[in-house]
This record gives sequence, structure tokens and C-alpha cells, in this order.
Amino acid sequence: MNSWLQKQMNERPDHPAFYWQDEEWSFLEVGQEVQKWLTAFSSKIPQTEKRVALFSRNSKEMYFSILALWELGKEIVFLNTHLSAQELRYQLSDAEVMTVITATEYLTAITELHQVRCIEMSCSVVTERQKTADESSYQLETPASIMYTSGTTGNPKGVVQRFSNHLASALGTQENMKITATDCWLCPVPLFHISGLSIVIRQLVLGCSVRLYSKFDAERITTDLVEGRGTVISVVAVMLQELLEKYPESGYSETFKAMLLGGGPITPTALEKCEQFGIPVIQSYGMTETCSQVVALGFEDAVAKIGSSGKPLKGIEIKIVDDSEQFVPANKVGEILLKGKNIVQNYLNGDQWQAIKWTSDGWFKTGDMGYLDDDGYLYLVSRLSELIISGGENIYPTEIEHVLQEVPKVKEVAVVGEPDEKWGAVPVAYIVGESTVTAEEIYNFAQKYLAKFKLPKRIYFCHTLPRTASGKLAKHRLTTKEREAFLSK
Ligand code: ATP
Ligand code: MG
Repeated sequence: MNSWLQKQMNERPDHPAFYWQDEEWSFLEVGQEVQKWLTAFSSKIPQTEKRVALFSRNSKEMYFSILALWELGKEIVFLNTHLSAQELRYQLSDAEVMTVITATEYLTAITELHQVRCIEMSCSVVTERQKTADESSYQLETPASIMYTSGTTGNPKGVVQRFSNHLASALGTQENMKITATDCWLCPVPLFHISGLSIVIRQLVLGCSVRLYSKFDAERITTDLVEGRGTVISVVAVMLQELLEKYPESGYSETFKAMLLGGGPITPTALEKCEQFGIPVIQSYGMTETCSQVVALGFEDAVAKIGSSGKPLKGIEIKIVDDSEQFVPANKVGEILLKGKNIVQNYLNGDQWQAIKWTSDGWFKTGDMGYLDDDGYLYLVSRLSELIISGGENIYPTEIEHVLQEVPKVKEVAVVGEPDEKWGAVPVAYIVGESTVTAEEIYNFAQKYLAKFKLPKRIYFCHTLPRTASGKLAKHRLTTKEREAFLSK
């Protein structure tokens, strides 16, 4: 082994590395266990297969599989366990993998695809095999992981994350959150998503410990935070909400440092509660292509800069541009472009995306719209693809959604543009609500807060809204014939 793991084994062999349920593993013990998994995998996966897929939810086995596959020099395609069979087929064939390493509970599902060889996730050895030359040295520029984007705006794209991207990401977080080897990062978020995998990378690069959970259990995590079993935790908004509900009067342990919130903004009520309880929440902005957070808002700025995602991390440049890729001044909305070593250079099989997503001088075009204020804080406004241009006016669906969300009896909202002869496009709303809610009630409420041109021209009631495997609203599916499937009868 000649890797980040090896470095940690040499430098801090007895330091706690990994916690799973009631087990504690030092770096040395992790390394020894990885050796077993590595031997098992090397006897089962043909040497010629450089890339394999992993299909599991968080588990001890998944953790050791990741480390062992990297030691073996494999690129890992991370599959979201919530994907439908059709989505799985697409990602497996796009990534051209022949072998999927699967948690036992998913063996049948993967076998039924009849598309790949299935290896059950275990460290049992078939036959011993000699180590080969390409094993066990991380070449920084080789791909470590292929992770598909959430597919919020269309088909998911396979993001080629190199070790160098992951390294830059870990160092940016170290600087921003002052992470040291004494930290213990709680991981209730999935390892098949960058929010989870980036925690393992930080462990390998910075020497901190990881406490992994198979699923989010607010009660268990609250106990762990109260009893000082974690200094930092990554969460998404719904998890934060549940933790706030369970927050004990006596508070968390004094050793607790920060809650890193990703994936979406904090609600004003949640922020108020965090203030009241003194929970330091760090809000962050990032995407699969940036290998975790690239912009973050510290707790000290949360109230003064409410609604902002924060400032770029060290090593990240940010600029806001118009349609012709020209700079726009502070406080003006445009597309967010990013540059930095975190950011990947390409998609898998993504030639057609290269010129669309990367400028000739190396900026990544996020497809997100936002602005920088006078102090350089970033505010997200919309996705470029969701912008509605109606009679020359820019309409941001999220602004309308925030208002409609407040209507009593409304549960979920998605606003999209619909083609219109006169205006080019008009906003329309898809709503999941209680059975008694009427369009009239919604209009009466909305017109108090929205200019006339922003009022949805039509309201469609739905039994459910389309979502991606990561639970995000997939609004593009409401702009095709597919929308019929979601409408209430
Ligand atoms: P696809 O690229 O396939 O359409 P996706 O962009 O949803 O899917 P991800 O990489 O999982 O795939 O998500 C990144 C996106 O999530 C960002 O580009 C941004 O639109 C959104 N996002 C990330 N952080 C925040 C945040 N703090 N607030 C609001 N939106 C956020
Ligand atoms: Mg995206």
C-alpha cells in the first residue's frame, strides 16, 4: 500500500479512524482489515477490469470495500440505491462496467438486470492471488470515483472525480472548518453521494475519524452528539429539522463544533432555532462536479447574510456572467462560474458536454444562477434551465414556490414555464395539497405577495411530484407528456 491510508497507518497507527455501531477501529486496524478485503476482491475481480460499480447503502462492508478497491487501483462507480431498474441499466451501460459489488440485500435486484456480473460484498477469499504492479499507489490524476449527478435537470451525467479533485476538496474544508486529526465526523449521509464520500476522503487526507451510520436516526445521533461522540456532522435540511426537534435542554457536548448543511438552503425557522440553541450551522453550496462544498456560510454570518450560501473556500474562484460569458457587476443575477482544483474536468462519455459546461479558459459553468453582493457573498436564485422568460421579464420559479408553499393546505409545489403565444412563456404551478384546497384559495393568497406577471397562469393538482433518486424535484418531467402521470384524476 502506498496511499493516503498507508500514510495515516504510519503516522497515527493507534489513532481512532472508524466507528461503526459499537465498534472502534484504529488506522492500523482499518489498514489490516482493508488488506483482507483487497485480497478477496483481487481474487474475484478480473485484473483487466479497471472500473467496477458499488451498490450498497452505508455499512461497514461498504466502507472497507471502498478503501480496498482504491488500494487495488480500481475506479469506483457509485450507484444510488434508490435508482429504478431503468436508471440503473442506463448508468451501468454508460459507465461500461461489467462487475457490480453488491450488498447482500440487493443481490437479487442486480442479478435480475441480467447485465453485469454480481459480486456479493464480503471479504471471503476464493483463491489467493499475487499483487500486481498497478495496485496500491494513488496517482493523483487518475479517476477515483464516478458519481452520477442527481438528474434534476435531465439525464444524470457521470462525473469523473479524480484523487486530485478530492484532495483539493478535503484541503479546502480543512482550512474553512479548521479540521484536525482530533475531529470525529458523523456520517449519516450516503457514501454513494459526494456528501458522504467526501467525509471518508477527509479522514484519509486529514487523519480525522469517521462515525458511519447505516441510516439517519435522529435519536441515536442526538445521543452521540450529547455524549461527545462526534465534533462535526454533515446533514441535509430534513435531517437538521429532525435534530432540532430532538434537541435536548442540556445541549450537545462541548466538543461539538459544527453542523455542515448541504444540498439546499436552511429555512428561516430552522435558522432561528439553531440561533436559539446555539448550534453552529455551516450552510454550503456545492455539486457532484465540485466534489463537495465550494462555497460556505459560517454561523457568525448566518443572520447578517440570511439567504446567502456564503463565500468561496480557499482555492476556489467564482464569477457571475451573462449569456455572452461577460462579467456582470455585484448584485446582478447571472450564471455562476467556478474555477479550482476541486472541480472535475469532464463527464464520462461527455464529449457533447465539454464545450457546454467548461469554458475554453477552464471555468466550469454550473447551470445555477445567482449574484454576489458587495461583500462577495453568493446568493443562489434559480437553475438556468428553470428560468422563465415571460414578455421579456425574468421570472424565478423558486420565488413563486416559496409563496405558494405558505398557502394553508398546500404540501408541495413545483412552478415551471409553459409555452405561451403572447408572452413566450408563463409560469404554471403543480400542487400537491389536501383534497379541499382550491385554485381560488391559492390565487387569493398568492396575489398578496406576487406581481401579476408572476402569478401562475394555471394550477394543476397532482397526487405526487416527480423526484430524482436523491429526492430532488425533477421539474423537467413536468414539461413533457410525462406530466400526465402526476396529475390528480
Ligand atoms: P443534474 O446536474 O443532473 O441536473 P443536480 O444538479 O441536482 O442534477 P447534484 O450535483 O446532486 O445534481 O446537485 C447540485 C445542485 O444542487 C447545484 O448545482 C444546485 O443547483 C443545488 N444546490 C446545491 N447546494 C445548494 C444550496 N445550498 N442551496 C440551493 N441549491 C443548492
Ligand atoms: Mg447539476
